[in-house]
Amino acid sequence: MSARRERILAELEIGPRWRLRGRARPPGDRRDESEGRLRVGDAEAADAPARREAVTASLDLDDRAARIARMGWADLKAAVATCEACALCRTRTQPVFGVGDERAAWLIVGEAPGAEEDARGEPFVGQAGRLLDSMLTAIGLRRGENVYIANVLKCRPPGNRNPEPYEVAQCTPHLVRQIELIRPRLILAMGRAAAQTLLHTEASIASLRGRIFRYQGVPTIVSYHPAYLLRSLLDKSKAWEDLCFARATMQELQTAPAPQS
Ligand code: URA
Repeated sequence: MSARRERILAELEIGPRWRLRGRARPPGDRRDESEGRLRVGDAEAADAPARREAVTASLDLDDRAARIARMGWADLKAAVATCEACALCRTRTQPVFGVGDERAAWLIVGEAPGAEEDARGEPFVGQAGRLLDSMLTAIGLRRGENVYIANVLKCRPPGNRNPEPYEVAQCTPHLVRQIELIRPRLILAMGRAAAQTLLHTEASIASLRGRIFRYQGVPTIVSYHPAYLLRSLLDKSKAWEDLCFARATMQELQTAPAPQS
């Protein structure tokens, strides 16, 4: 255990504290000071192991996140390839790191690999991916050319269920580092998992569309997830509006000076 962690756990481990149980006694009452006192530590001791486990897990995550935050591309790819931070490592075929131009102006963030992505090791190669490719083509973009595609989760949740908060927490440092290394001009967050993770919000996609948010200073636009659009044809026209908005925003950004490296 690191000295820092030991110190933090020691700080958090509340030793026995004493609090008066009854009403204040009248002046002159000389009964033993310890009588009538409740040992507060007794109640807290019962859930101390759970608290200790939760604190340790969050310190582990901090340590991991700090290590990941210093990685270059090669180390980051290796870290994802061998990641066992959550149980998805036991059901995945392989992690799906991300694909595209590592200096891209456009970053597309999705949710998590599905079955085809898990089999092929590349994001958005199934039906939703084909729709994403056509959407990109419609605004003059092509996978891999000035575009990078990544997911919040690098491993497939079994049965394509929604990501669990624990899985998102464990995997987010990878995405955060990808974004720092790519330094995109614009992020397109597709679907709830991407929007919620990057913008720290519970708000619906409908309420987030049509605005420019900032993720670590990078303009971020929210739209529907392509898999959702396959089921909800009516929202396809809204997604088209979002893409046009993103393209117009990028055009404006490109006339502005590039950020300093
Ligand atoms: N859905 C996603 O969010 N990402 C993929 O890679 C595939 C489907």
